[in-house]
Amino acid sequence: MFNEHIRSWGNNFNCSANEYSCSSVSLAAEIVRSCTSHGIIPRGAGRSYGDQSLNSGGGLLSLQRSEDSNGYVVTDSGLVTVNGESSIGDLLSAVIPQGWLLPVVPGSESITIGGALAADAHGKNHFHRSSLASWCKEMNVMIADGSIIHCSTETERDLFWATVGGLGLTGLIISATLQLQKITGSCLEVNTKSYSRFSCLFEGLKIASKSNEYAVAWLDLLSERHPGRGIVKSAHLDKNRNLERGRVDTKSINFPLSPSVNFITRPMCSIHNSLKYGSSLITRGTAITPISDFLFPLDKVSNWKNLYGRAGLMQWQFVVPDEDSLLLENIIKDIGNTDLLPSLAVLKRCGKESGSYLSFCRPGWTLAIDFPANAKARDLLVGFDKSIAEVGGRVYLAKDSCLDADLIHKMYPKLDKWKSIRRYFDPKNVWQSDFSRRLNLI
Ligand SMILES: Cc1cc2nc3c(=O)[nH]c(=O)nc-3n(C[C@H](O)[C@H](O)[C@H](O)COP(=O)(O)OP(=O)(O)OC[C@H]3O[C@@H](n4cnc5c(N)ncnc54)[C@H](O)[C@@H]3O)c2cc1C
Repeated sequence: MFNEHIRSWGNNFNCSANEYSCSSVSLAAEIVRSCTSHGIIPRGAGRSYGDQSLNSGGGLLSLQRSEDSNGYVVTDSGLVTVNGESSIGDLLSAVIPQGWLLPVVPGSESITIGGALAADAHGKNHFHRSSLASWCKEMNVMIADGSIIHCSTETERDLFWATVGGLGLTGLIISATLQLQKITGSCLEVNTKSYSRFSCLFEGLKIASKSNEYAVAWLDLLSERHPGRGIVKSAHLDKNRNLERGRVDTKSINFPLSPSVNFITRPMCSIHNSLKYGSSLITRGTAITPISDFLFPLDKVSNWKNLYGRAGLMQWQFVVPDEDSLLLENIIKDIGNTDLLPSLAVLKRCGKESGSYLSFCRPGWTLAIDFPANAKARDLLVGFDKSIAEVGGRVYLAKDSCLDADLIHKMYPKLDKWKSIRRYFDPKNVWQSDFSRRLNLI
């Protein structure tokens, strides 16, 4: 069906495209075989902040979600085979009560397994568990001629490592076999600490990342006196709670927000940050919470992105190596000297890279910041991107809205290898997107 109003999650991109939501794999193959010169791109839950799953003038392909045909049967060794269109929430709801957890969980339960693998998503524990590709054993991928190739770390390795992190540009992930982690309880013991200065928060997060399963910091980048003050939340699995309590049942508040008004102004954000920081001084300490409360905080308000008005938001996420963490501090200070409005900022520790040719996370620190989308903000961010590339850092492609195509080679040294594998499996450029054209990826 032709749809003129398909928007990115951040509302900052839109496209007119043919949307194909197929009831069967064979129907999807027929559509792929007959696609036009504008190509087609897989679309999951549409949780990409930017244009990764948009394709102006072409097609968007998804398989209809139903009860997972693989049934979420977990083997004794913790392997589960899941359809690409299943959501992270569906999978967790099915496996947590059986005593299993996905070792890497991105920050929204709506994200699909296919979308998470195509981004090689990471969670709040990258320093322990790397990214999702490291827990994927095998996949069935529909390539450009409509055939399905079974690939794994042993067979069709190139297709496997180009598809995880490949943002849909090598094919449609039909199903994936994932290694789960055994759990005996399903609640988390969460510790909250606030820090009035960035230097102390940074040390606090370092320590928390060493001794906990999960660790994440929220930063107040709008504080004039202490930019980068904030809250560190760390957590480990509480072995004493029963499994049922950890079921994923995120209750979201649905404010009647239409994107006609922009609520994200500097005074509003400053007040919000001060209240959040102030209340953490009262709530600090330890609490037991269901896994989903800690892992999916943004799912609690279902349409928060509409607060940004018609222009929408962009999320900018970068990683810098350990030895260049000073750059992180400088970027935080420099943002304070610009007109940029960092409405939400989250810092995490990164560990070992996965084998994906386009893996984002590398050992170091990753900062994700939401900004209201506008041309000036894009220009300013491109300036920061240059310094990040200089030290061997990267911008996260799965969330990108403004990267300069000339910088991507520097950030992703295996890009040429990825491109040659992509060309081999898709010589006619069937798989393409607004994102791939913006960054000259095909
Ligand atoms: C609130 C929120 C929190 C987030 N938290 C995190 C986080 O903690 N860590 C993190 O790493 N990311 C995070 N993300 C980003 C998210 O993981 C990625 O954008 C992910 O790709 C979105 O998946 P989706 O199912 O929504 O797919 P879409 O947005 O529809 O598509 C995303 C990309 O995946 C491709 N794709 C989708 N389905 C398939 C398939 N079956 N086969 C092949 N390719 C496919 C698309 O072509 C596109 O390139 C977050 C996003 C949001 C909105």
